[in-house]
Formats: sequence, C-alpha cells, structure tokens
Amino acid sequence: MSRCLVRGSLNIDEFFHVNDVVRPGQTISSTKFERRGGGKGANQAAAVARAGGAVSLVGAVGDDGEWLVRDLEGYGVSVTNVSVVKEVTGRAIIQLTPEGENCIILHKGANYALPDLPTQGEFERHLTGTSHLLLQNEIPWATTLAYLEYAHARGVVTVFNPSPMPADVQLHSFPWTSLSWLIVNQGEAESLLRVIGSDSTNQGTEAEYHDDWPNDDALRGAFLTLNKLSRSGALPSTAVVCTLGATGVLASMQTPKEMFYLPAATLQGNVRDTTGAGDCFTGYFVAGLMRFGNRQLSKDEMIELLRLSVQAAGMCVERNGAMESIPERIVVEARLL
Ligand code: ADP
Repeated sequence: MSRCLVRGSLNIDEFFHVNDVVRPGQTISSTKFERRGGGKGANQAAAVARAGGAVSLVGAVGDDGEWLVRDLEGYGVSVTNVSVVKEVTGRAIIQLTPEGENCIILHKGANYALPDLPTQGEFERHLTGTSHLLLQNEIPWATTLAYLEYAHARGVVTVFNPSPMPADVQLHSFPWTSLSWLIVNQGEAESLLRVIGSDSTNQGTEAEYHDDWPNDDALRGAFLTLNKLSRSGALPSTAVVCTLGATGVLASMQTPKEMFYLPAATLQGNVRDTTGAGDCFTGYFVAGLMRFGNRQLSKDEMIELLRLSVQAAGMCVERNGAMESIPERIVVEARLL
C-alpha cells in the first residue's frame, strides 16, 4: 500500500484584522482576531489525508502547538513523529485589511529546532513503508536535502514544492536527478528558469502552443517557461506541475514527453480566500499519484489526476481558511459528476 511522508513545517497563523497595517511607532487596535493551524507541511499533509491518502508528518511544535497536532490527527494525519520541543511553535503574525492588503511576520520557531540531520535510526523509522515523500521549503535546507537523497536512494517517489523559493545557490546545487515531481506556481517557475534554465540554447517556440488551448497570456507565458525548462536539460528526470491560479494548471512530463493543461474549476459562488489553494492542490495531486505506486502514468491518468486536484483547489478557494477549507474527496468527486 502507498504511504506518503511529509517532512515539513507546522505553524500557528494569527490573523489580526485591522483597518490599516500598522506604521512604525504606531499602536493600533485590531477589529477581529483569529488563530488557525497552518504551515505548508501541515496544510499539505492534511490535504493528502482529505484526499484519502495514508500520510505521516514529521516535524516539530512547542507545547503551545499541541492543539494543532490534535487537529491534524483529526484530519487523519499520522502525527506519531511530530515532536514537542522546548521552543515556540512556528508563527505567522498576519495583519489583514478590509481591502485584502496583508503584512506578515514569520517566526520559524520549532520548525528549525530539530537537528538538521536525522540519525540513521530516525530515517529508518520515518521512511519504513513510505512510497512517496513530499517536501516544501519551510524547514532547514540541509534536512530537506537529506530526506530527499535518502528517500530517492530507496526508490521512493519524491515530490518538492519549493515554497518559499530557495536561494539561487541552493537551486544550482540541488540534486535534481533525485526528484520525481516538482510543483511550482507561475512565479516560482519563472524564477527557476532564470536560475537553472538559462544555459539553454534550445529555447522552443510559441509555435508549439496547442491549438485547442485558450488564448490566455498567463497560460502562454507558463507554456514558454516550462518548454524552456524542459529543453534546457536542467531537469532530466523531473516532471513539472505549474499551478496558474484562476487560469488552472500546466504540467510537463518527460516520459511520455508531453504537456498537459487543465483550466481551473468552475466555482459555485465567488472566490472567498485563496490561502492554501496551492497546498490543497499539492496534497490532492500527491494522494492521486500514490494510487499508481511508482509506475509511469498514462496521459489519461495524468489528466484525471489533474482534474481532481484542480477541482479540489477550486473548492478550497470558495471557503475561508487554509487547512479548514480543504474539501473531502467524496465531495470533490461529487462535483465532478
Ligand atoms: P499558490 O497559492 O501556490 O500560488 P495558485 O494560486 O496557482 O497556487 O493556485 C493553486 C490552484 O488553485 C490553481 O491551479 C487552481 O486550480 C486553484 N485556484 C487558485 N485560484 C483560483 C481561482 N480564483 N479560481 C479557481 N481556482 C483557483
């Protein structure tokens, strides 16, 4: 049976609703306060579970974050390997204005409190029974690299959502051949091309743009970016999935060499809150991949997988919050009927 390991972050997101973001020297009152579970590791693990995948999270909180661990357990995430350490839980302090402007302070806290490199015994314990590894970039870089290399050497399918974007030097020396799937948004894809794809002499042309795709600037731009990345040779064995917000998703596979585009889901009502849409998409996508073990996907399977993930992410933006707005698979499938 497939099982996903997420080695990643857990945060407490504290939202202060304010009329204007605070200026230097000023003290202001907030009109409303909300506290929610977050962190890309926690959000994506919850999304894998909501999508029906078996998933364990390895990470750390302080004793102020034990409620978050219980919440994750409630979503169906295995939290046996979430440590409680003598540090505060990672925090995002978010000021939100009625116009949707925001201002965020991040404190890494417990996400950086575990030793960078796990012991051999910890690796064994965490990876036994794991078929898929899912990583983001909210924990120490050395830890991310260590899990990636260890998992790849054991034949585990590896998925990386490089958010927030690593430094150029980190991208240059990243072990790309150990990575099976890269999930990025449009801005991240462009940064990546600039850093690792700039040696390309074979840039591809817009003439290859599929006739049956919409004439959309975001899609055209993403198409050129993924085409150049694919031709640059920088990612010889990595498939790239690029989310495009309200435009949908574009994916580039190496075998079979093919690009796939799916428009965003049609919403019921208005966009409420796009926070966590990317995490919802990623969790659903990985849970879908898990159904195929480590074999290659056919074109039809890839389209089905993208369709379910796009539908789930669309339903996520119809509701407030990140983790709490991830829909259950049964309701996502019902919308697709
Ligand atoms: P990120 O939050 O990581 O930047 P995106 O903004 O690309 O990610 O959103 C991820 C996915 O969420 C998109 O591929 C799309 O399927 C869905 N999505 C995001 N915004 C909308 C929207 N306004 N309408 C419908 N779907 C959306």
